[in-house]
Amino acid sequence: MSGRKSYQTEVVIAGGGLAGIVAACEALDQGRRVLLIDKDTREKFGGLAKESFGGVHLAGTPHQRRLGIRDSPELAWSDWQSVADYQPGDRWPRAWGQFYCENSIEYIFEFLDRRKIAFLPVVNWAERGLYGPGNTVPRWHIVWGTGHEIIHRLLQALEAHPRKRNLELLFDTEVSGIELANGRATGVRGRDMHDMPGDGEIQAQAEHVVIASGGICGGDLSRVRAHWYRPWGDPPEELLNGAHIYGDGMLHDKVAEAGGALTHLDLQWHYAAGVHHPAKRRPGDGLSLVPPRSALWLNARGERIMNPGPMLAYGDTRHLVASVLQQPGKYSWQVMNWKIAIKELAVSGCDYMTAFRYKKRLALAASLVFGNKELVNRLIRDCPDDIVTADTLDQLMERMDGKSLYGLKLDRARMEATIRAWDGMIERGPAYHNDDQLRRIANCLGYRGDRVRTCKFQKILDPKARPLIAIREFILARKSLGGIQTDLQCRVLRAADGQPIPGLYAVGEAAGFGGGGIHGKGSLEGTFLGGCVLSGHVAGRAIGRVV
Ligand SMILES: Cc1cc2nc3c(=O)[nH]c(=O)nc-3n(C[C@H](O)[C@H](O)[C@H](O)COP(=O)(O)OP(=O)(O)OC[C@H]3O[C@@H](n4cnc5c(N)ncnc54)[C@H](O)[C@@H]3O)c2cc1C
Repeated sequence: MSGRKSYQTEVVIAGGGLAGIVAACEALDQGRRVLLIDKDTREKFGGLAKESFGGVHLAGTPHQRRLGIRDSPELAWSDWQSVADYQPGDRWPRAWGQFYCENSIEYIFEFLDRRKIAFLPVVNWAERGLYGPGNTVPRWHIVWGTGHEIIHRLLQALEAHPRKRNLELLFDTEVSGIELANGRATGVRGRDMHDMPGDGEIQAQAEHVVIASGGICGGDLSRVRAHWYRPWGDPPEELLNGAHIYGDGMLHDKVAEAGGALTHLDLQWHYAAGVHHPAKRRPGDGLSLVPPRSALWLNARGERIMNPGPMLAYGDTRHLVASVLQQPGKYSWQVMNWKIAIKELAVSGCDYMTAFRYKKRLALAASLVFGNKELVNRLIRDCPDDIVTADTLDQLMERMDGKSLYGLKLDRARMEATIRAWDGMIERGPAYHNDDQLRRIANCLGYRGDRVRTCKFQKILDPKARPLIAIREFILARKSLGGIQTDLQCRVLRAADGQPIPGLYAVGEAAGFGGGGIHGKGSLEGTFLGGCVLSGHVAGRAIGRVV
């Protein structure tokens, strides 16, 4: 292709992830003509949500009520604020956070429900907090069929939309600039990814421009390092990438050039249990594991990480990350055995969680009863860089040392003593469980959603539970909590005076999931997919109202 191609529409959306798709659905509902442009291929339409596990944060659902969970927007907002720890100037993030808690049923649950997206009956209890409050009650609603199902159903809805002729889709096309006239956004320009620079240019004129291009954690991680959260010290040398390959923040820069405000780019949501992705789609590609609660979390010297609290999944993700970053080498090991792994180990995302992804009820039931052997075998086979197994502790430590980085070696005597002390306490029985991790495991065993996926106080060196397994884990960059600042109609606000730039909107991760940082410092989990649906929905409605 050569020359310039021109488009004329009412709404142009840059980015076909969940937020862009929801904005498109809603704008079509409002009778608008929409052009959606994505840099990626048609096959990848849906962005990160298509790979996601599909956990959505909701407060006050019928699912919670059926389980006897009493929740309310007020309680949700109180929990949200305690994790967000907003700063005094955070007017818009705070307004968005409250809006999420007060409207998650109408704007997220009902929106998805109308498109036949169903949730599993048991609500999960993520981010319950460590020493401060987190989710007081379970709110993580898992979509049956994972995030893949969310996108599948939404694309079906677009296909069947009565105004489908008003929608035009353009793939393999990068939006590279925002057109402005008299301070108003009037369209975008871009280029066909298959053409040489200078060829295949496109121009799209529109009354409304929606930036839905995702976060800044993808790309080559240079922006993650440049905006690293200073209180954490320097970023680790080995940092894995779990975000969108095109999440490079290029359109954030274009918004800034247009006068828009970018806020809180140093607030990012990383995970502590990343391993090298077997598919190696790019350098440093990472797979985020859901770390077993019954494993012992050790540093590169084999010392247990306890500063100050225990290292336990489903408690406080930020605490896990901050704790690992204080360790020598800034990476860690989780030590467990086969029995723990098949019951508790999981992978964030849909690719490895096949029973959820393909809606296999029997396989899911079997994995809950007998353990997910398929998953653990696959991880052991696919991730030899980071996972070692052995029949004896000596062998295991030998193999772990073979993977030590930066000249750090295990203190084997100390590591063995730590594991034997842990097993000894379990052996003495629950009455003597004077260890914070064990007390929290007991708390997990009290909730039905966790009980099926938690071992009942499992000793690590138990000969009947072998082989022993150790997983070398790295910090994995995933989500940008900050982004383009918007008001409650998703209008991009000017850095100079805080007023909206006419015709310019931002949604989803590009907008920090709303307001340029709806989460403040931390998330209650499931708020990312939720924030994309919420902000996409709001933007589509707001655009529909403009005459
Ligand atoms: C494995 C995994 C599991 C996850 N699990 C969960 C979960 O269970 N719960 C939860 O809440 N969140 C989860 N998340 C996070 C969540 O999926 C994302 O935050 C969310 O989907 C982001 O959606 P988005 O539409 O804002 O951006 P993206 O999905 O990043 O989409 C942005 C789109 O914009 C396109 N684009 C970028 N730049 C340009 C450009 N210049 N021109 C044109 N197009 C461009 C990209 O190609 C992409 O299609 C998970 C993420 C991953 C990776």
